Amino acid sequence: MIRKISDILAEKEMTYSFEFFPPKTEKGVEKLFEVAGEYKELNPDWFTVTYGAGGSTRELTMELVDQFQKRFGVPTMHHFTCVGHSKDELANIIEEMKRRNICNILALRGDPPAGVENWEPAPNGLEYSYQLVELIREHNGFFSVGVAGFPEGHIDCPDKETDTKHLKMKIDAGSDFVITQLFFDNKDYFDYVNRLKAASIGVKVLPGILPITDYKKLIRFCAGCGATIPKRVHDIFRPIDGDEEATYKAGIDFVIEQCNELLDGGAPGLHFYTLNKLDPVREVLGKIRR
Ligand SMILES: Cc1cc2nc3c(=O)[nH]c(=O)nc-3n(C[C@H](O)[C@H](O)[C@H](O)COP(=O)(O)OP(=O)(O)OC[C@H]3O[C@@H](n4cnc5c(N)ncnc54)[C@H](O)[C@@H]3O)c2cc1C
Repeated sequence: MIRKISDILAEKEMTYSFEFFPPKTEKGVEKLFEVAGEYKELNPDWFTVTYGAGGSTRELTMELVDQFQKRFGVPTMHHFTCVGHSKDELANIIEEMKRRNICNILALRGDPPAGVENWEPAPNGLEYSYQLVELIREHNGFFSVGVAGFPEGHIDCPDKETDTKHLKMKIDAGSDFVITQLFFDNKDYFDYVNRLKAASIGVKVLPGILPITDYKKLIRFCAGCGATIPKRVHDIFRPIDGDEEATYKAGIDFVIEQCNELLDGGAPGLHFYTLNKLDPVREVLGKIRR
């Protein structure tokens, strides 16, 4: 029986989860199964698989979630987004998840497909993730539902107070926990947790961790999602840009320090953006796991 993440969180003080994305090629999929098999050996609490902005990898998400649960027995959360779906389509996909015993969903609005400037929901679609949480909750208690949180505030949200209000709507709609956007200054996380507590949001907030392995890619990625790269990160990684080995080592050192400080400061676990790679996450885990 696949466990719900809400039950795992209620039972364990600290959890370690690992996020993958659906590869675009068959070879990539084969490789991902190998990588996930190695992660299985690290006693993961759960895996998650992202949902693309459109196209064929969307169906692959469900296939991978299903297969990871069957092959490895690891609860695997299906990321799921409003973008590009009518409400009926969303409801049908939720039914299909239920049929396949996929009982953990990360409910998101989703990123609009690349190049789309003024995003609008699909006809008869949903505009915000809290509406997707409501739709999932029509299935009573079958699903455990997580949502995204943004320690620095969501890129399109005018201020942190409004961002907190919008998160509260997702929680009030029935979400069980929050996984955060990546961040590199732990103060952003701790301030966020305090902001949520002050707004009577009591669910666990799991920090999303990205090990830095490529400085230029990091800059591109953060420009897209609105995460700030602190001066300290630029100072460490800019001088060694292009030196793969030095960047890898500095990335490991940075993330070990970041994770230790988060766990010592009371974070209830860690969620790793693995980018489908085993290293460096395995190396970091070996040094920080409590
Ligand atoms: C852990 C994590 C995993 C992710 N996985 C994926 C993935 O698999 N696929 C993918 O496409 N994207 C993914 N994303 C990115 C996410 O979809 C985007 O950041 C998206 O822009 C916001 O999603 P959301 O669920 O927070 O949206 P929402 O909660 O709907 O918020 C979107 C915007 O609307 C605002 N808003 C919310 N409610 C209201 C309201 N009632 N009135 C007015 N404004 C409102 C919010 O402040 C925000 O600015 C992930 C993000 C995180 C942190």
